Amino acid sequence: MNIEATIADIFREYDAKARALYPAYAGRPVPALTFYTKGTTAGLAKHSAWEVSINTYVAAQSLEVLHNTVSHEIAHMVDFALRMRSGHDRVWKAIHRSLGGNAKRTASNVTVQRGRAKNEYLYRNAAGAEFWVGPKYHAKMMKGIASGVKTKSGQIFLATDWTRQRRTIK
Ligand SMILES: [Zn+2]
Repeated sequence: MNIEATIADIFREYDAKARALYPAYAGRPVPALTFYTKGTTAGLAKHSAWEVSINTYVAAQSLEVLHNTVSHEIAHMVDFALRMRSGHDRVWKAIHRSLGGNAKRTASNVTVQRGRAKNEYLYRNAAGAEFWVGPKYHAKMMKGIASGVKTKSGQIFLATDWTRQRRTIK
């Protein structure tokens, strides 16, 4: 069995456990399960997308890490269903323990993505300088409310300098 199938099995196990324990969570659909391989974050619980994303490289360190990562993220989803928010506080810890987890933030940098991630937009001006513009200013430039952005080093970037490249900051 490949790693994604193993994770999916463990995911179903904790999802079922959570459904039996928490009616508010049972009233929500089964979260989408996705996978990624970059970075050191073991997993993500995405409230708005109603999705659990597991880092197959990090989670595959050991079966124990895998179980704790999946139950960690499902505990966040339960928390979202109960409170519309989640962190690593007392409430989340109690949920994680009830699912059989260690209630630890864990050493493998398990983090929760709260709401939407932040986008940045790559601009490259005529001089070849590059600058990542934040979402608010980018929107202003696209709407023509702002004509350009001047960086601390004095470089100027115009709306037409956007490279169409975008990155997401978590
Ligand atoms: Zn977390």
